[in-house]
Amino acid sequence: MEKYVVSALKYRPLNFDSVVGQRSLTTTLKNAIGSGKLAHAYLFCGPRGVGKTTCARIFAKAINCFNPLEGGEPCGVCESCQAFDQQRSMNIHELDAASNNSVEDIRELCKQVLIPPQTGRYKVFIIDEVHMLSSAAFNAFLKTLEEPPSYVIFILATTEKHKILPTILSRCQVYDFQRMTTQNTIDHLMYVAEKEGYTVEPEALGLIAEKADGGMRDALSIFDQMVSFSGGNITYESVCQNLNVLSQEYYFQLVDHFLDSRVPECLMLFNEVLQKGFDGGNFVAGLATHLRNLLVSRDAVTLPLLEMSDKMRARYQEQAQRCLVRFIYKALRLANECDLAYRNCRNKRLQVEICLIQCAAPSDTPKEGVEEKKNEPLAKSSEKPQPTPPVAPKTQIPPETRNNQVSPTASTPPEASAEPSPRKLPKVSFKHFGAAKKEGEEATLGETPPTEEVPLIEPINSDKLTAAWYAFIGALPRENVALAERFKGLQPVVKDDNTAVLTVSNPQVQQTVENQMPQILDTMRRELRNAEFRIETKLEELQEVAKSYNSTEMLKMMQKQNAGVGELVSKLELTFD
Ligand SMILES: [Zn+2]
Repeated sequence: MEKYVVSALKYRPLNFDSVVGQRSLTTTLKNAIGSGKLAHAYLFCGPRGVGKTTCARIFAKAINCFNPLEGGEPCGVCESCQAFDQQRSMNIHELDAASNNSVEDIRELCKQVLIPPQTGRYKVFIIDEVHMLSSAAFNAFLKTLEEPPSYVIFILATTEKHKILPTILSRCQVYDFQRMTTQNTIDHLMYVAEKEGYTVEPEALGLIAEKADGGMRDALSIFDQMVSFSGGNITYESVCQNLNVLSQEYYFQLVDHFLDSRVPECLMLFNEVLQKGFDGGNFVAGLATHLRNLLVSRDAVTLPLLEMSDKMRARYQEQAQRCLVRFIYKALRLANECDLAYRNCRNKRLQVEICLIQCAAPSDTPKEGVEEKKNEPLAKSSEKPQPTPPVAPKTQIPPETRNNQVSPTASTPPEASAEPSPRKLPKVSFKHFGAAKKEGEEATLGETPPTEEVPLIEPINSDKLTAAWYAFIGALPRENVALAERFKGLQPVVKDDNTAVLTVSNPQVQQTVENQMPQILDTMRRELRNAEFRIETKLEELQEVAKSYNSTEMLKMMQKQNAGVGELVSKLELTFD
């Protein structure tokens, strides 16, 4: 039986041209060898598994080759090259400084340095993970590094350049290795798969490349695992399963559900993900990544940011064409907020579900009018509101959508819009649909009947109430972060069909809530489809400790605990007596 060799070793490059993803660097090295201008010390920096040691070995082989090729490559057939390839050359010494970092180890190495090569021209010393040397060892090494015999070349390799002493840096020629791009990794894995006669799906390799995060050695070892797991037939699904990665398929489906406002399907999909044992927090983070990919695939300028297989990229482009930029912005913001809040909230599942519900809210469903915008560059569309389709919106937009399109200002009393309103923000914004439409489209909106003409009075319940409360918080402008955080700590409770009670801990908070009440009611009435909905605020009974403070002291204490409070007080121009 043939001996099994892992792919990382079997397909280790034997000359510079077969090194993946370091073209400019290998060219420089080849030129140096070709012209015979060799330094006596090199420092190779870069992440793990990108070819530092491999290049060091090829370098050692090339400078010892008896018949080097034009352009600095080793011939690969002479006795010296053969000795290198079979790892029996006496002209190369490797020291792993991670495990041999003492002064004794370095003294031993320095003794070796004094012995000239028996065959060949150079002795090459590769010191891997050189930043791990103890400082005593560093000092012992410095002298040798400074004035080595003419037949000695040092190649130091490190993943952490910043830990290298300046005295060492200044004595070396420094080469920075690049992370592998996903495409480089995919191409190389594809090459290995072809050589070995495996069948593979490019998306599966893309997933492996992503997991390896720029390291070729890691990618190859994951690849080997997948081969033994799948018996040489590597599919996207099998890789997902084996690496415990959530299939991208879920996110494509989820966004399709968002676009069609299919809330129940969203929740069921999330349920399925949880049942498969995936973590809700990771799911949301994955959703944010998916949305980000959709965003960058809309524009040719940002398209290179999408590191994945061509087939997957086409898939993203297709879905992105069906999304409006503002929908992606909104969903991104929601997913990001959910991600931030996830760790600290008690009902984690609900937190994610609220995010999904808000993403699927019908107001942002693109439906009609997508065609005009599909090739619109990001910058342009984020600078100004989207133009409405030339056809009158009345005939095009379903009544449900139309209701939500009516911006809060259409119905809010004037004093409410004097509050910190989205209007003051620059229009590159992550704010909700209604706000984004406001200025550009007032004329069109005027034609549509305002929400209040059809007063809806649906009885509220606890779930709807919570969702509406978070919808209000989510719609707060970004400069009101402190306010949003404060409101997140509050929880309205159902009192009757049209009323909720909000218990607050002190009069200042109560005042804050009352100040925001017009906006709160405006948003929540729409969300709850209940025009009669109102909120009663109730003061929590003060606890023993709190009694010893008057309101000014309490404010001071709160400011100490949370810097946002002070900002809030000055923004809202609150006064205390
Ligand atoms: Zn040779």
